[in-house]
Amino acid sequence: MTRLIFLGPPGAGKGTQAKKLAEFLHIPHISTGDILRQAIKDQTPLGLKAQVYMDKGELVTDQLVEDLVKERLNQADTQNGWILDGFPRKVTQAAFLEELLTTIGQGGEKVVNLDAPDETVISRLLGRGRKDDSEDVIRHRLEVYREETAPLIDYYGDHHKLLTVNGNQSPEEVTTELQNLIAA
Ligand code: ADP
Repeated sequence: MTRLIFLGPPGAGKGTQAKKLAEFLHIPHISTGDILRQAIKDQTPLGLKAQVYMDKGELVTDQLVEDLVKERLNQADTQNGWILDGFPRKVTQAAFLEELLTTIGQGGEKVVNLDAPDETVISRLLGRGRKDDSEDVIRHRLEVYREETAPLIDYYGDHHKLLTVNGNQSPEEVTTELQNLIAA
């Protein structure tokens, strides 16, 4: 049973690695960013609400992502584990998740902190060309990360749930490091 939360700055490779590891472990990869982008594409009410924030590189409201995660973790395919990517992104969301997991009887989660320096993530994001990957928006996303999300490193460290992986190496090396960590 593997329940993992991926943490790290935008561009650290969370999405790529989380997806790969989830396939390897045959568990769902739950990316709040992917779910929100799909909702925008489909022009659902959720998507319309989220788009304003995402285009600016701001976090969408807690309520929005919390409802989404609650619904997703209540689906049957989460029974054998999951990888959460992009949630929680704030201490308030982490507290929400902890309570939710207790309520639905899904504890024992670990947090992978995929770390990489600013220069690395900025050049990767600029090369990616997603709509919210313009230089200004990237800078803002990094600021938001430092202010809102980085405190989760200490939060999960204090809860003895934190594992750290060096994201500043090739994707293959990160994958190997992650698989070794999970197997340990
Ligand atoms: P990246 O890993 O490149 O930062 P994501 O795909 O995880 O990108 O997220 C893209 C955007 O989706 C974020 O900038 C934010 O606007 C929104 N988002 C995703 N997850 C959350 C969350 N947990 N809380 C608030 N906003 C979120």
